[in-house]
Amino acid sequence: MLKYLVILLDDTATSYCCYRSEKQERRLISLEDLRAGILFAMKQNLMLQVVYPACEIPAGHREAIETIDHCKVAPAGNGCEKRADVVAFDRWSDAEAFAAAMEGKKSGKIVALRLAKAEFFACYSGLVRMLRCVERLNVVITDVETFGEQDFTAYSEALAALGMEVKKLYAQGAKPQLNILTDRLALEAMNSCNAGYESVTLAPNGKFYVCPAFYLEDEGDAVGDLSTGLDVKNRQLYGLQHAPLCRACDAYQCKRCIWLNRKTTGEVNTPSREQCIVAHLERNASAKLLRDLQSTGEYTSVKEIGELSCLDPFLNYELGITD
Ligand code: SF4
Repeated sequence: MLKYLVILLDDTATSYCCYRSEKQERRLISLEDLRAGILFAMKQNLMLQVVYPACEIPAGHREAIETIDHCKVAPAGNGCEKRADVVAFDRWSDAEAFAAAMEGKKSGKIVALRLAKAEFFACYSGLVRMLRCVERLNVVITDVETFGEQDFTAYSEALAALGMEVKKLYAQGAKPQLNILTDRLALEAMNSCNAGYESVTLAPNGKFYVCPAFYLEDEGDAVGDLSTGLDVKNRQLYGLQHAPLCRACDAYQCKRCIWLNRKTTGEVNTPSREQCIVAHLERNASAKLLRDLQSTGEYTSVKEIGELSCLDPFLNYELGITD
């Protein structure tokens, strides 16, 4: 069932996920299309996420957006973060400066921190500072598909180190939320992004797309428009039930990125090995964190996350092993 509508206000709207937003030329959604998109969300009872560019948008657009409950996603900088619910950072140096400015205070923000793996490996020890000042930190590694064996080892070590820091924060009475470690603690079922199945995107050209990445990659990839309605071909293929690897998996925090699936395997419902192993490393690090927290009296009602003998769901699937 469709639950979310994402509205990209402009071609230069920020990315808050693993795709790159590289368009330089502005193209603002028309006020007419924006209003029609809002009406579509109201009629379908969809939750709305509005994705902003760095530049100012006209007063008419701002007024239209305020007629409906929504979540604002905006890039860091230019004062945009003040009005955003979700602030997207593209560079660690900017995020670090934000954390330094917030030192000792709570920003109440959800932060999406997009980093290439090299930057993540170089800066992850600084994430604890971010965790202290934000409501929630979503780390998005933007080149997961390039991970090799050394990267898997480095990621596992990074997660172990972050797990220790999260445990210390709990001991100090904080309840940090770090997607790659703490999401799995509270989940009892898959919580993937479900683009194309539970969410669609309205682009600045007035057409629907599976997600912003599909629009930015190829405008010809539309799945309907505001006048003819939504038309996702073979929509069932985007759902968990038609993803044989994922429906047997318990790395519930995995984003199961549909765009990355298509990019790496040519199938929207088949993930790459790299995406799976990264998610399984997170799952295992969460399992260890859960045991540590349970020994201090936290999460005592949460079911143990069992040990996995193999991190590669492709192998498990071939061998008929389910988690
Ligand atoms: S780890 Fe792999 S199999 Fe499991 S949900 Fe993620 S993409 Fe699917």
